[in-house]
Amino acid sequence: MMPIPEAVQDAVVIGGGFYGTTIAAYLVKTRGMKRVTLVEREDALLGRASFNNQARIHNGYHYPRSFTTAYRSRINLRKFVLDWPDAVKRDFTKLYAIARHNSRVTARQFERFCHEIGANIRPAPPALRALFEPRLIEDVFLVEEYAFDAGRLAAWARHALDECGVQVRTGARVMEVLRGDGSALTVAVRHGDGTREPVPCNYVFNCTYSGLNQIGGDYPGTQTDLKQEIAEIALIDVPSRFQDLGVTVMDGPFFSTMPFPARGLHSLSHVRYTPHLNWSDAAGVDPYERLSAYARESRVERMLRDVVRYMPSLAGARHVESLFEVKTVLVKNELDDGRPILFEKHPQLPGCFSVLGGKIDNIYDVLEKLDAQPFDNEAAQHYSDSHRVGETGVVYG
Ligand SMILES: Cc1cc2nc3c(=O)[nH]c(=O)nc-3n(C[C@H](O)[C@H](O)[C@H](O)COP(=O)(O)OP(=O)(O)OC[C@H]3O[C@@H](n4cnc5c(N)ncnc54)[C@H](O)[C@@H]3O)c2cc1C
Repeated sequence: MMPIPEAVQDAVVIGGGFYGTTIAAYLVKTRGMKRVTLVEREDALLGRASFNNQARIHNGYHYPRSFTTAYRSRINLRKFVLDWPDAVKRDFTKLYAIARHNSRVTARQFERFCHEIGANIRPAPPALRALFEPRLIEDVFLVEEYAFDAGRLAAWARHALDECGVQVRTGARVMEVLRGDGSALTVAVRHGDGTREPVPCNYVFNCTYSGLNQIGGDYPGTQTDLKQEIAEIALIDVPSRFQDLGVTVMDGPFFSTMPFPARGLHSLSHVRYTPHLNWSDAAGVDPYERLSAYARESRVERMLRDVVRYMPSLAGARHVESLFEVKTVLVKNELDDGRPILFEKHPQLPGCFSVLGGKIDNIYDVLEKLDAQPFDNEAAQHYSDSHRVGETGVVYG
C-alpha cells in the first residue's frame, strides 16, 4: 500500500474509469490544480464500464427518440476523434437497417431524422443489402459511425495521469466522504490490505458510475434517480465477410454487432437478451457485489438465433466470451433512451461533485460544466482561455 501524500489535496477523484481519469487530467492541465489524487477500487484503470461496453462512438443514429442526445453526439464525436485519434477505429463500414415489424421508426422517418441532425446517410449498395432477409428488413443505409479501443484509452489514461503528476491509487476503495476538519472535505480510503486512510482535500469528484450512491459518510447521494442493469455484451468471431462491417437493426427489440477493437473481435448486443436483470439504485445495494454474485449464464445462443433470422450469413459467427457489466442509466430516460449526463453539486457538502457520463463522448458535456465552475485554488485564479490548448480546449493525445 502506498500512502497518499499528507498535504491537503486540491482534489480527490473517486473512480478510475474514462470519466475519472479524464477529469483528473483536466483539473491539472486545464485548471492548474497541483495536488490531485485518484482512487480506484480495481487493480487497473478503465477496467469496468469503460472497457465492458459496446465501444460505439455515437454519432446520433442510435437515438431517433431523443433529438438532444442525437444532436449532442454529432457535436461530441468530432471532438473525440480529434482528441483521441489513436483510440478511434474508422476503417469499417457501418450499416443501419430498419426492421419491417415492431420498429418504432420507419425507414423514411429514420432518413428524415438523420437529415435533421445533419448525419450522413446513403442507401446501402445491393451487395450489402443482400446480407439481410428482405421480408424482415425494410431498408438498409450506409452511415458514418466509429468504434473506440478501450485498451488504448486505458493506455492513454495511465500515461496522461503519470505525465501530469496525478497520484493514482489502485486497489483502494473510497468508503466515505466527510465534511473536513481543517480542510473542506475528507475522503476515507480503504486500501487493499484493509488499512484505512483519511485524505483531506478541497474538492471531491465522485466518478464511480454504478457506485455513485454507495459512498457513505456525509455524501448525500444523487438527486437524480438511477437504474442499474446487469448487461451482457457477447464477443464473437464473425465470418470474414463481416470483419469490416458493423450492423445495427433499429428501432426496437433488435440487435447490433460491430468491431470491438480492444479484442479484435465483434461485440454483439441484443435489446431483448443483453439486459439480464435490473433494479432501482439504492444506497447499500452495491451493484458491484450484485454483479459478482450473479451467475452469468450467457444468452448468446438466443441472441444469435434471432440475429440469423435477419442476417442468415452470420450463422458462422463463433462466441468467444461475454463481458458482463452493470449499466447505469437515468430513470427519466428509460423511455426515450436518451443519454444526458448527470452533473450534480451537493449544497449539503460544498466542494463535492457527482458525475455520470452515460456514454463515452459525453465527456465534453461534463467538461463544459466543469469549465463553468470557479475552483478555489491559487493556480485556478489565473485560469484563462490562454491556458487552454487544442481544438477542444484540452489536449489528450
Ligand atoms: C453494457 C454497456 C454498454 C455500453 N455501450 C456503450 C457504447 O457503445 N458507447 C458509449 O459511448 N458508451 C457505452 N456505455 C456507457 C459507457 O461505458 C459509460 O458511459 C462510461 O464507461 C462511464 O465511464 P465512467 O468512468 O463513469 O465509469 P467506469 O468506467 O465504470 O468507472 C468508474 C470506476 O469507479 C470505480 N469505483 C466505483 N466505486 C468506487 C469506490 N467507492 N472507490 C474507488 N473506486 C470506485 C470502479 O471500479 C470503476 O473503475 C455502455 C455501458 C455498458 C455498461
